[in-house]
Parts: sequence; C-alpha cells; structure tokens
Amino acid sequence: MADDRARVVIVGGGVAGASIAYHLAELGWSDVVLVERSELTSGSTFHSAGLVGQLRSSVSLTKMMMYGVELYRRLGPETGIDPSWHEVGSLRLASSRERIEELQRLAGWGQTFDLPLRIVSTEEALELWPLFDPEGVEGAAYLPTDGYLDPTNLTIALAEGAKLRDARVWTDTRVTGIEVEGGRVARVRFAERDPVETDVVVNAAGMYANQVGALVGVEVPVVPFAHQYLLTKPIEGVRAEMPTIRDPDRLVYFRPEAGGGLVAGGYERNPAPWNWEQGPPSDFNHRLLDEDWERFEPLADGASSLVPAMQQAEIVRMINGPEAFTPDGEFILGESTVRGFFVATGFCAHGIAGAGGVGRVMAEWIVQGEPELDVWKMDIRRFGPHYRARGYALARAVEIYATYYDIHYPNEERQAGRPLKTGPTYERLQALGAAFGEKAGWERPNWFEQNTDERFEHLRPRGWAGQHWSTAIAAEHVATRERAALFDESSFAKIDVWGVDACAFLQRICANDVDRRAGTIVYTQLLNARGGIECDVTVTRLGTDRFRIITGTAFGTHDLVWITKQLGPADDVQIRDVTGSLACFGLWGPSARTILEQVTSGDVSDAAFPYMTAQQIVAGDVPCLAARVTYVGELGWELYPRVELARSLWDELTAAGEGYGLMPAGYRAIDSLRLEKGYRAWGSDITPEDTPLEAGLGFAVDMRKDFVGRDALERLQEAGLSRRLRCLVLAEARAMCLGNEPVFANGLVVSRVTSGGIGHTLGVSIAFAYLPPELSDAGTSLAVEVFGDRVDASVADDPLYDPTGERVRG
Ligand SMILES: Cc1cc2nc3c(=O)[nH]c(=O)nc-3n(C[C@H](O)[C@H](O)[C@H](O)COP(=O)(O)OP(=O)(O)OC[C@H]3O[C@@H](n4cnc5c(N)ncnc54)[C@H](O)[C@@H]3O)c2cc1C
Repeated sequence: MADDRARVVIVGGGVAGASIAYHLAELGWSDVVLVERSELTSGSTFHSAGLVGQLRSSVSLTKMMMYGVELYRRLGPETGIDPSWHEVGSLRLASSRERIEELQRLAGWGQTFDLPLRIVSTEEALELWPLFDPEGVEGAAYLPTDGYLDPTNLTIALAEGAKLRDARVWTDTRVTGIEVEGGRVARVRFAERDPVETDVVVNAAGMYANQVGALVGVEVPVVPFAHQYLLTKPIEGVRAEMPTIRDPDRLVYFRPEAGGGLVAGGYERNPAPWNWEQGPPSDFNHRLLDEDWERFEPLADGASSLVPAMQQAEIVRMINGPEAFTPDGEFILGESTVRGFFVATGFCAHGIAGAGGVGRVMAEWIVQGEPELDVWKMDIRRFGPHYRARGYALARAVEIYATYYDIHYPNEERQAGRPLKTGPTYERLQALGAAFGEKAGWERPNWFEQNTDERFEHLRPRGWAGQHWSTAIAAEHVATRERAALFDESSFAKIDVWGVDACAFLQRICANDVDRRAGTIVYTQLLNARGGIECDVTVTRLGTDRFRIITGTAFGTHDLVWITKQLGPADDVQIRDVTGSLACFGLWGPSARTILEQVTSGDVSDAAFPYMTAQQIVAGDVPCLAARVTYVGELGWELYPRVELARSLWDELTAAGEGYGLMPAGYRAIDSLRLEKGYRAWGSDITPEDTPLEAGLGFAVDMRKDFVGRDALERLQEAGLSRRLRCLVLAEARAMCLGNEPVFANGLVVSRVTSGGIGHTLGVSIAFAYLPPELSDAGTSLAVEVFGDRVDASVADDPLYDPTGERVRG
C-alpha cells in the first residue's frame, strides 16, 4: 500500500476512531488509515470509568449499544487482546413514584426490541447489590446484559482487529490540514509526514473535533466538560461481579473495581465547561484536570447517603477528565456539508458504551452511503448554522449536563439559549399569550393561553402526558374543524431548486412525479437506495425550471444536505435555503375561503384555485404565494409572504377573520389534527428504515418513472410487504400514546407505537404502529401498554377523519 494514498483517513485514535477503523476493515475496506497525534487512547478514552449501559433515549441508539455488548463479548478471543468485559448487569434505582413510572415506561419500550430490561423490587435489587440503603427506594430496573470493561484495552483490541485486516495505525501523527477540491475532501496534511490523498476523512477527534472540523470550515458543536469520578480502596462486601448501579435521584453511578473497591461518579448540577470557546490546548494528551472536590461534594453526599460504606471508604484517587458533550445530549455522527468529511464525536460520557455501534453505523454510512438504522437524532445535519455561535452551543450543553438525571416529561420544552430565532409576528403571538416551544432554534407557539377553555378539561390525557398540556389545544383543534384557525408556520424550511436540469434532477430524486404544470404542488418522499424515506416534502413547481421544496422546521439542514448530495457533476442546478426570507401562515377551516376572500380580489373558488395548486395572490396589501395544501385535513391555504410584509398580512387575516370565529392556533393542535387525518410525521412514523409502501404512502410513488430507491420498492412489491403502518384506536380516550409504547397481540409484543395522541374531534386516542399482515386487518384486537397499563386497541382503516377528503377539497 502506498503511503501517499488511502481510501479513508480517520483522525483520532480514541475508542471511536479505533472502532470505525475496525468496522471499515470488517466491511472489506483494506486501505484504512487511523491517525493519532499522540498515543492511542490519550484523549478522553484512557480516563473513562468504563461503564457500559445500553438503555438510551432512542431505539436506534439503544440498538447500537446492544450491538456494542455483542462485540465486546467476542473481541477478546477474536483479537487476542482482552478488553476485560464484565457482563455483570446494571441496576437503575427509583427513589420516587415518578421514577418508577419512568422505569416502567422504559421497560415497556425495551420489550419492543428485545432489551432484557425488567423492573425488580427493592428486595431483589438488594440481593444483587447488598450495600445500598433501601430507605426510600421504590424498586429498580435491572438489565442483566450491561457491564463494564477496560477502555484502553478495548481501544487497543479494536485497533488490533483493524490491523489484522490490513488497516494502518499511525501514532504521533498530527493532522494539520485537510484540503477540499470541488466541495469534496481531497488530501490530508500532517505535521510529521507527507500528505495523503484520500476521498474520505472521518473526524473522530473527540473534544478536539471542532478544531479538526475548522480545517474544512465545518462547525462541530462539541463542548468539553470536566467529568469526575473517584476510586476507593477495597470495601467489605464489594465483589467484582456485582452489577453497576445508578441512582438518578441522587445523581450518582457506581461500578465495582476488580480489587474490591468502588468507582463512584455522577452528573453534578453545576457542570464545569472547559476551554469551551477555543477548544482544548494542542498538547493536551494523556492528561487530567485538577481534582475539584468542591464541585464533587453533592455527588459525594449522594454516594454516601446511598451507600453508607462510602462514608468510611478510603479514596485512592479522584479522576477529573474532560469529555465532549453536545448541545442536545446526543452523539454527532454522519457526513457534513463537505462531501467525504464525516464526523463521529460528542459521546457525552457514553463513548465506551457507544463505541461498537458507532463504529458499525459509521462504517455503513461511509461504505454504503447511509447507515441501516435511523440515526436522525444523532445526525450532524440536525444542527443548523446557529450552532456556530459557541455561546449558544455552551448554554444548551450546560442545560443538558445539569439535568442529565432529571425525569423529562413528554413535550417538555428546553429553556437555554431562548429566544433565538423569532419570526416577524413574534410580538403579536406574545400578546395573544402564545405558549412557545422551540424547534431548531425557532420560537413557535404550541398553543395560546387565551384559548384555554375549561370545557375541554375532561379531555386532559391521564398521567404524564397530561403534564405539558392545555385545554387550549383542544379548543384550537375544534376551531379548525368548525370555523377557522390561523397558524404561524414561518419556521417551515423552504428550499428553492432551479436551473436547466432542475426538473430532471428532482424527477430523479423524488418518488412522485414532479414534472407537472407550473403551479402544481406534489407531495413526495425522497428515498435512499434501500427505498427508505430520507425526506418527506411538498414540491411546488413555480416555473419551468424553478421549484420550491417545503419541509419540517427541524429538517431543513438535513434535507438540504441530502438533496445537494444527490447532485451529479453535470447537473445544471442551483439549490438554496430560503427559509429566513419567507414567512408562512396556515389558514385552515371551513371558513378559510370566506376569510381569504375578504382580503383578496383573486378568485379562490375551487374551480379557479384547486387543491394541491399554488398561485401568486395579493392579500390586503401583501403579495404572496398561496399554496392550497393542508396538514390538518381542512380547506385552506399556506400563505408565503416575504418576511418584511408578514406582519401586515397577519394583521389583515386576523382582522378579516374576526366575524368568522378565526382563532390563532399552535403546533400541538396541528399534531392532533394530523393524527385524525392519518398524515405521517417524518422522524417517527416514517424514517430512513421505512419505505413509502410500508408506510401507506404508495399513492405518492410513481413507479412509471425512474428514481432513487425505485428498484428496492419493486423488489419489495414482488416479495410482498411484511409490515404496514396501521392506525390503532385505543379503548380509553385519555390514554395518550407518546411514541415507543409496546403493542401486544395475544399477550406478546408485536410492535411499538411510532406516534400517537388524542383526536379531539373524534374523541379517541390514536396511535400508529407497523404491523405484520396477519394483524393488519381493520378490527383486529390488540393492546397498547400506556405507562404500565395495558389498554385495548383495535386496528382501524385510516384516515379516521374525512376518509373521502371532501373537507380538504372544500
Ligand atoms: C471521567 C470520565 C468518565 C467516563 N466514563 C465513561 C463510562 O463509564 N462509560 C462510557 O461509555 N463513557 C465514559 N466516558 C466517556 C468516554 O471516555 C468518551 O466518550 C470516549 O472515550 C470518547 O472517545 P473518542 O474516541 O471520541 O475521543 P478521544 O478518546 O478523546 O480520542 C480523540 C483523539 O483524537 C486525537 N486528535 C485530536 N486532534 C487530532 C489531530 N489534529 N490529529 C490527530 N489526532 C488528533 C486526540 O489526541 C485523541 O486521542 C467518560 C469520560 C470521562 C471524562
């Protein structure tokens, strides 16, 4: 192998870089180079506590962790280097009723993908871990396949496994430059050796990843934090094979040490960011930070109150090491805006547990173009450009760290760094009592306090789901169905595509036929080669060579990168994100046309302005694009004025709607309305793991033309569908599903809920789930576990509301 060329250069010889090298080599890539500026493991990896816990916030991440355990079991025999894997299990204690409810919910969720998590009594937990004080402990979750290992040996074993398959490992080799040609990675420069030509670079530089990203102008919003744990001398009763244990209410975790001592650490409420603005110093390798006993004090108190033996235990040493955290507590993975420049970092003190899965997902991404799991929550594309502001990234990351062990109730809104992005009507919405939520930095009304209506109190979801809820949601829902409502959706991402080849390009990447008359709106998915749904959008043809794509607020960067990546070198196509220059108001409900007629002289009758078409109109004094589409299942329009004209339009519409009962409404009402109408949500109901055929979106696929993913759909059609997204109606109207609840048939788990909520018009609790053919027929009896209670449910044909679409056509 030539030393001046590599198929891929991985920057960073920590556990992540080593695992990516291992998995690339396993997938058959022979010319893999792993470079480390110092020795292997000399970043965060060497000082890790080595706990491997699999239970995480999303199914995909938990599956990645489960794969890690499989790998750690076999790595020793395979490579000859023992990572000291101790499969001792783990206990997560609950010291309050709410915590037990949280654990029950997680246990139910875990059943849907064979995570062997179960709830045990305090007595059982004590049998497994006799040293904790049971006072106030209500029970625990026990996961027998968790464990701990030696992080340094794990890294060396992974690197060895890669070398056995011909990967090269260059230590004491610092990357100093990465050259990009034609928007794609071309060459890597080093301090100690000649440059290497390559098409792929993986930034696995841990807390230094933002500095490595800067070499190609890619912002990687990691924030280093100091993280501490202490090691004790042997304590009587501690055995190396005791489970690891966490007590989130006391903010602490423990694991046994081989010699009979304990490792005790945790997440303090006053986190300590470290060199967050400029990044760690360039010589920070194999080093620790000074012990910070004052900051550790609350953790020490929590540890001694849970494990009284800690009060007398002798401390061997305190480890205070920095680690890369992220603004939302999720990993940062995937290909950046620079083609061929991948990122894998931000493991938020879970990089050892995550390393196996991270290596596999990244290798698939690099070799196959996309990973097999839906990793959107970890995808670098979830961060918009506003994360370039380090202060913002810091504020968000501090909040995540400080509340790490808190119970997070459904629909809870984060507070740090707000408000950041406000639309032109922000003050108007505030004056109306908007209860704002935040998405991708945007302030968006969830509901309006002024719409609170006690008559809907009987609809409040029971249990946790009723916490962040308001009767205003139901009132706004009903107003949309019965009269009209006005929604500010200015945060919608808007992407313009134009150029001589724009139509042909979009025909190639969209599953539906977008080559229609100017003014036509087409609902379509953009698929990967496996037929999985990468983007779920509407495409409006504005002119012969000009199109506008509308997608969800949070998906703008993701979709933009996906679409741009599909461009071929010969395509004469321009793509631009125009989100910030246009506002968007949704005016929907049976009175929508009458209200619009008050402000425009244009003909908005059904004949002149049919469903799924768009026209330029003037509303009041405001020219805007009006698009007759809906995500709520009622007659109406999305109106797109330029931002500087948006407030005038809002005022015009509000005034025009006065006599017709027009109500300002928020996003939570939209969710309830769309569920009744069976509209799918990307990221939950439909993901890169699901095809449109399985998702019931075959009507939006045109198999007569060629497009990315078509072959996969054809194969699926031939083979027959093994699962379909179906609508369930629960027997109890206030048992609200939030997503991920297990679905049972004859007492066995058969699926999990993708999304759910209460349909206020129909007065039922609705959930979606992928089901096998034998359970898909309407009327099939199933059950859904909602916060520990099995609630009967039956399969129903969707949409439940207005199945013939009469109301949409108005
Ligand atoms: C105190 C503490 C306890 C922890 N406990 C646990 C635990 O119990 N369980 C768990 O799962 N996780 C734990 N973690 C987290 C875990 O250690 C990390 O997530 C993981 O080690 C990160 O690995 P990495 O490969 O991403 O980064 P690192 O190990 O930091 O590796 C990055 C490497 O990149 C190299 N590099 C940087 N710039 C360049 C360049 N320009 N050229 C070449 N090389 C470069 C660095 O030298 C470094 O070696 C803990 C972390 C800390 C701090």
